[in-house]
Amino acid sequence: MSRHFNFCSGPATLPLEVLERAREELVDYQGRGLSVMEMSHRGDDFIEIAARAERNLRELLSIPEGYRVLFVQGGASTQFSCVPLNLLGGGGTGNYLDSGVWAKKALAEARHLGGAHVAASTADLGYRRAPAQGEIVLSPDAAFLHYTDNETIGGVAYDYLPEAGDVPLVCDMSSSILGREIDVSRFGVIYAGAQKNIGPAGLTVVIVRDDLLDRARPETPQMLSYRQAADHGSMLNTPPTYAWYLCGLVFEWLKARGGVAAIAEVNRRKAARLYAAIDQSEFYSNPIEAGSRSVMNVPFRLRDESLDQRFLADAEAAGLLYLQGHRSVGGMRASIYNAMPEEGVEALIDFMDGFARRHG
Ligand code: PMP
Repeated sequence: MSRHFNFCSGPATLPLEVLERAREELVDYQGRGLSVMEMSHRGDDFIEIAARAERNLRELLSIPEGYRVLFVQGGASTQFSCVPLNLLGGGGTGNYLDSGVWAKKALAEARHLGGAHVAASTADLGYRRAPAQGEIVLSPDAAFLHYTDNETIGGVAYDYLPEAGDVPLVCDMSSSILGREIDVSRFGVIYAGAQKNIGPAGLTVVIVRDDLLDRARPETPQMLSYRQAADHGSMLNTPPTYAWYLCGLVFEWLKARGGVAAIAEVNRRKAARLYAAIDQSEFYSNPIEAGSRSVMNVPFRLRDESLDQRFLADAEAAGLLYLQGHRSVGGMRASIYNAMPEEGVEALIDFMDGFARRHG
């Protein structure tokens, strides 16, 4: 067996221990004589798998009483619609912070569904940093404040929790959830596509405060309704059972590694090593301002773009996969989520160093 280091932004690398456990249980789940994939989602075994996953996620994030955890489908992109549909029943618009590609997509969907107010934007700065607290101007008739904790493409993150005044704070945490500790009680809604720090693609986690379950616009489709998902244990229809099970295995893995505080420490170390290597070199660069640099996604450019394809080919040959930046921005990007071991980052730094010496 040869496992490469996978720097893909999502679907992303999964912990080897999780894949091995899944393999062990693949054909015959704990002596039941069938695979989790083949089980009824209404049966006792799957209900227990689902409940355990939720319990462990609640423990990992210290989710307080008064919040529901939903396991839904449609990806984080569907949440771009769910948020205005579920929160704007009383009218008004959403406040949106514009920090890059993903924030803009959420904003576009809100505009499409009735209105959005851009409360702050760093578009004019080329998204070189996240909006600062002092720049946020909330609209008085907005019903929530939405922001994107970590811009997966731009590599931009917030180093503070935006102040939402007396409306709920809503966060797209797709590429940073479980990567560092958060105070869930400060949020109204948190959502995240699973395929980065949670598990395989196909599942989206939504954490929603109870009092926000009944603010939906009347036309909200049942399948997009937080209330419906909450009342039906996220099983209004057939859920992606196997993805849910795998997410549960990732949560167990993370608990065994000491939980979010422990992994956050490792994440900070990995990111600090990689940014230092980029900053110290004349060959590579990252344009993001220090306070806004993502710990999860590290975009970087080669001084000479004509070497990009060579870099990628050599990296792949060295077992370092998916370092190509998003097609909209070019350059390189290393996604170094929870499941990327420190040795993976060290291997990348060694490779970058060698490449720069050969071509510098
Ligand atoms: N938000 C962020 C921050 C993302 O990184 C992504 C996916 N890369 C999305 C939303 C969209 O997620 P999905 O593909 O699950 O719809």
